[in-house]
Amino acid sequence: MAPPLPPSLPLELLERYGHSTHGCAMPTTGLVGDETFTDAQYVAVLECLAKRVEDPLAVYVHVPFCHVRCLYCACTTTVTHSIEKVDQYLDALDHEMELVTERIGRGRQIQQLHVGGGTPNHLNEPQLARLMEIVERHFVLAPNACTSIECNPRRASVGQLELLYGLGFRRISFGVQDLNNDVQRAIGRVQSLNMVRDVFLTARATGFESINLDLVYGLPFQTPSSFQATLDQVLDLGPDRVACFSYAHDPSSRPHQHAIDTAHLPSASEKLALFHSAVRVFTEAGYRWVGLDVFVREDDELFGAQAKGQLYRNAIGYTPMPANQVLAFGPSGIGEVGDALVQNDPDLRQWQRRLNNGEFPIAWGRRMTATDRKRREAILYLMCNLQLPASSAADLDKEYDRLCKEAEHGLVEVSDDGIRVTPQGRYLLRGLCGGPDTLVDWGSSQWRFRVST
Ligand code: SF4
Repeated sequence: MAPPLPPSLPLELLERYGHSTHGCAMPTTGLVGDETFTDAQYVAVLECLAKRVEDPLAVYVHVPFCHVRCLYCACTTTVTHSIEKVDQYLDALDHEMELVTERIGRGRQIQQLHVGGGTPNHLNEPQLARLMEIVERHFVLAPNACTSIECNPRRASVGQLELLYGLGFRRISFGVQDLNNDVQRAIGRVQSLNMVRDVFLTARATGFESINLDLVYGLPFQTPSSFQATLDQVLDLGPDRVACFSYAHDPSSRPHQHAIDTAHLPSASEKLALFHSAVRVFTEAGYRWVGLDVFVREDDELFGAQAKGQLYRNAIGYTPMPANQVLAFGPSGIGEVGDALVQNDPDLRQWQRRLNNGEFPIAWGRRMTATDRKRREAILYLMCNLQLPASSAADLDKEYDRLCKEAEHGLVEVSDDGIRVTPQGRYLLRGLCGGPDTLVDWGSSQWRFRVST
């Protein structure tokens, strides 16, 4: 399949809609979280969920630890080498699941389990086994459940990968980001191609059914030729999926990014060219571009779902299943329960303190009105299926008109049937779905979620 044409987008559009955010999985459709969202409100939505026993559930567990901080990182994580600190986190996680399952019933079946971070495989083997034991004591994995975990290749070993497989994980994701030495040194994350390849092949040999590799574009010292080399090396490994995230430089909210020298960051148009090279390399190799920034093999369920207009996106990411009940555990975890969006306190100590007091550790929450929900569903549909039916106009009101106006710039096509994102517009899809005054607040820190481990 021929790759989409290289875009030539005016700088003004790149600045407005450009590649400026990184990795938030969860569109909030312009909703403002409410700090006064109470335990009682959360209990009410959990009690509603208790009655909806047929609703498919997804569980996200956030592991907020790493062995060292990468300079580009936008995740909620803490550097620790303390076994006790991780054990205390697991105690609190156990308690959090207890609080939730007391309300919805223990032993509810889950269709999707995703463990992210931070670095989940920073936990030692007994701790990983304990994490899974905690999950399985409170929930039952459906026989065909999608079970995935994010791993840092620098922390992986043969024994650890075998353990994770034995614990039931069938999908694994490794953070590669970039394989060029200068880029790796500039972002404080040095990992050789040989090491990444060894880990990748070990995961293959262990039996993982799907291996995802994460890349990041827009990093310091990335050039068209250096990134092309990374893309070729990644392609050579034969991953099942590749996620290609945009780096967002925002040291005001992530002070460690001050260590990145902005003089070496690519410009907006250079970033676009880097992303386009990823599109070209993967599509020419037979991968299909799904949603915002994911490339999958043609037989991947995500592509099949997108082709049928049945791709979904929840707090965990793209999914072929309409799992819109997401229970999130761990600091900063974002959940979606019934008509509420909730986010846990991102501060590890606060999260633990709240749990020790017997409280739900929620930092923000919002009960969506029927209008909120329709707007959110419409924008998610656009993000997944690259089109909006004309019937969404009433739900989106002036936002629909705003999107229609982008036909002037060639970003969308408008017909009586609705709006369709053009190949040009697809490069700015994230921005189209939520610019500064639009529907999705991708950039606000309270909703920031997972990036890449
Ligand atoms: S990018 Fe991943 S491994 Fe690096 S500090 Fe952030 S969470 Fe940890």
